[in-house]
Amino acid sequence: MQTIEEPAGGRGRLQPATVAVVGRPNVGKSALFNRLIGQRLAIVEDTPGVTRDRLYALCEWRGRVFSMVDTAGIDPDPDPDAFGSFADVTRRQAEAAAEQADVVLFVVDAAAGLHPLDEDVATILRRTHRPIVLVANKAESPSASAAVHAEFAKLGFGGPIAVSALHGEGTGDLLDRVVELLPDAPDGEPQQDELALAIIGRPNVGKSSLLNALLGEERALVSEQPGTTRDAIDTVLQRSDTTLRLIDTAGMHKKPQAHGAIAYYAALRSLKAIARCDVALLVFDAMVGLTAQDRRLAGIAIEERKGLIFVGNKWDLVREQGEFSQGELARVVGELVPFARFAPVTFLSAKTHRRLGSLLPLVDRVAANLDRRIATAPLNQTLRNAVLAHPAPAVGGRLFKVYYVTQPAVHPPVFVFSCNDPDLLQSHYRRFLENVIRQHFDFEGVPLTLEFRRRRDSSDE
Ligand code: GDP
Repeated sequence: MQTIEEPAGGRGRLQPATVAVVGRPNVGKSALFNRLIGQRLAIVEDTPGVTRDRLYALCEWRGRVFSMVDTAGIDPDPDPDAFGSFADVTRRQAEAAAEQADVVLFVVDAAAGLHPLDEDVATILRRTHRPIVLVANKAESPSASAAVHAEFAKLGFGGPIAVSALHGEGTGDLLDRVVELLPDAPDGEPQQDELALAIIGRPNVGKSSLLNALLGEERALVSEQPGTTRDAIDTVLQRSDTTLRLIDTAGMHKKPQAHGAIAYYAALRSLKAIARCDVALLVFDAMVGLTAQDRRLAGIAIEERKGLIFVGNKWDLVREQGEFSQGELARVVGELVPFARFAPVTFLSAKTHRRLGSLLPLVDRVAANLDRRIATAPLNQTLRNAVLAHPAPAVGGRLFKVYYVTQPAVHPPVFVFSCNDPDLLQSHYRRFLENVIRQHFDFEGVPLTLEFRRRRDSSDE
């Protein structure tokens, strides 16, 4: 599978279909998920605290883009009292995932054979009328025989596709099948000159209030449009020079979901909104500060290479406590998310509209930075000077050398370093190179992708 770095048609907005990985515990759902998205994670640098327990990734296979959800890490009903047996959790996960998914990968364990819980999951999935792909994992196991596969066929989804999450066999065939079953790309793609903003954050931080405040303040032409996924409503805001598409993750699905799955849906909606946006506005309660969940959302936005702005809402309540310096508070926020220090922080009140005017100029700036292209000459000049002043330390007696840098893509910006041996690059030197770019060129709010390729004729001289 490929990483998505140069989306076709300029802007990186995508309206992905959803593929959910479902099955009873221990069949290897997470291992399969990680195997399927593996190549991409190897390229995108880990964001601390995010990648290890990620349950969502944007994927591409044969030119089709889709989001894949691992249900293993999700309990749609995280209320500790409601934690039932494995069977209950599995059923809830299967229900929740299947309801949202366009295609379901139903994973069974070829080493263990058919299990009663598999039949429970099958019953739930049959009711969803979604396309189901039966996947027999652990194909490398000696007990994964034709007889076992015949047994799985009794589940009613045809013969399984045999894969090994451990070794990778069969995953190409599996992805081919997934892509065949994906729905056609939706109509109504956003205009190229639109900028899509996702308003994300925990419940009650004021996302809806912020949306309404922005719409009220702008006194602009507003239209509600069904989002391109089943569960979003977009508001299109016409400004004098730009069109903003506001992807609302707050107001939807307010009706109670079966079995308290609201947190699960809220998380999934945030993830889908991030996938579709250009810039994510991560709203948090300024009285509370950033939480672990906010860090995680920020990490996902960065991994998806979206613009990112932190919005500390309820500034009116902070002001009631006394005088605070925004700069000082922003610095504190930065310390909590060191991997997102490039993202600007603003504080405002959606309720009183205090400092509300600070937000859209910031959005415009980050949008401009997403599209920023640095010409090859100044880029190389800058990096050459920096590298001469701070050469990379030797690794095992060998030096990492950069020959040439280009920026082949914008939105998101991608920098390709031609070098002698990418394996010699140490993470701190990679950060150094990124910081050099950031110090000399304005990429505030924009994650940068740095790729290192071995120059074909390179030698260590
Ligand atoms: P959402 O769940 O993130 O969409 O949050 P809401 O927009 O529904 O807001 C949650 C609560 O916070 C509501 O009672 C709002 O009135 C309140 N609220 C939202 N923004 C502000 C603000 O800037 N200041 C104050 N004091 N309250 C706010």
